[in-house]
Amino acid sequence: MTASARAEIVVDVAAIRHNVRRLRQLVTRPDGAAPACMAVVKADGYGHGMVPVAKAAREAGADWLGVATLEEAVALRDAGDTGPLLAWLAVPGEDHAPALERDVDVASYSLTQLTAIADAARRTGRTARVHLKIDTGLSRGGATRDDWPALVDASAALETTGAVEVVGIWSHLVASDEPDRTINDEQEQRFRDAASVAEAAGLRPRWRHLANSAAGLLRPSAHFDMVRFGIATYGLDPAPGETHDLGLVPAMTVQARLGMVKQVRAGDGVSYGHQWVADRDTLLGLVPAGYAEGIARAAGNRAEVWADDARRPVRGRICMDQFMIDLGPDSTLAAGDRVELFGTGHDGAPTAQDWAEACHTINYEIVTRIGGRFARVYVDSEVTQ
Ligand SMILES: *Cc1c(COP(=O)(O)O)cnc(C)c1O
Repeated sequence: MTASARAEIVVDVAAIRHNVRRLRQLVTRPDGAAPACMAVVKADGYGHGMVPVAKAAREAGADWLGVATLEEAVALRDAGDTGPLLAWLAVPGEDHAPALERDVDVASYSLTQLTAIADAARRTGRTARVHLKIDTGLSRGGATRDDWPALVDASAALETTGAVEVVGIWSHLVASDEPDRTINDEQEQRFRDAASVAEAAGLRPRWRHLANSAAGLLRPSAHFDMVRFGIATYGLDPAPGETHDLGLVPAMTVQARLGMVKQVRAGDGVSYGHQWVADRDTLLGLVPAGYAEGIARAAGNRAEVWADDARRPVRGRICMDQFMIDLGPDSTLAAGDRVELFGTGHDGAPTAQDWAEACHTINYEIVTRIGGRFARVYVDSEVTQ
């Protein structure tokens, strides 16, 4: 960390490449057959930076990239990405034309949306490549099972006009991180039924996709033609406690330089509301990042930070711009020294998963919310080549 840096998110693109290769290996069946792998880079690459992550994922052989919004897809194209790319979230009034002009595959959840996509296709003189979404149980996006036959029939009719081509059918799982829940089996069955209905209507989608990271790792029967790997691409475990020996490497390390080291006495209260009171004389370090940077306030008095080769507890509340950690009475750390909030877990240092547990949330939220005034820097390590 450079002497002038205050607080940084370090993203190792070699870890992204390693994870993409590793995931591909993990989903390859004994006979060598494997589903295509999509790297999901929505939400600014889960907080890691969409464009650099996309580039690293493509280099490592990701067959597809996936994003939520049309803007994200357009931004990826404008940054030079050219491979298969799907965007799956649009609302009425949004124009699909810029995405279609850039050869982005789009999703349709409803007849209204399909009509809007076909209209944009005619205006651009292109055939829209569409992935029809069936709601198999999440009750979020996608056509209900009641509405599915009409969506499929309308799609088949539009295919004959050349406005759209249905290249995909897809859905999203409710509880892929809880592999024993029967909803997983029910959703898979409903997905197969929906594909049959589409086929009976004359559609021939090349890509049927249902699995996200957890199902990609835990449920081969849900792989179909493609797995949409989000969180696992970043080296984080989608289903802690259910998966084993994934061999993934967390790509994000969050570090800062102490703003100050100070002595407190037994009985001194620390940070707003004095939610922690020192039970002995000790040295505190000021970490110059707070909830404005996406450090959850829930981490107050709960999370740990790596400093001087040991885990040091957060003391008192997380503030907007800063928080305090307990360095212990004998610390030799000084203002300006580096501390690590979370990262790869080297030597027992905290991970995003540890922070998630401390904050009663999931690792996804920890990495995706990190930002604010942190600088983001990229490294390409040798260890994970
Ligand atoms: C975000 C997202 C994914 C990726 O999920 P992970 O659990 O991060 O692998 C896959 N599919 C859809 C529809 C998503 O919204």
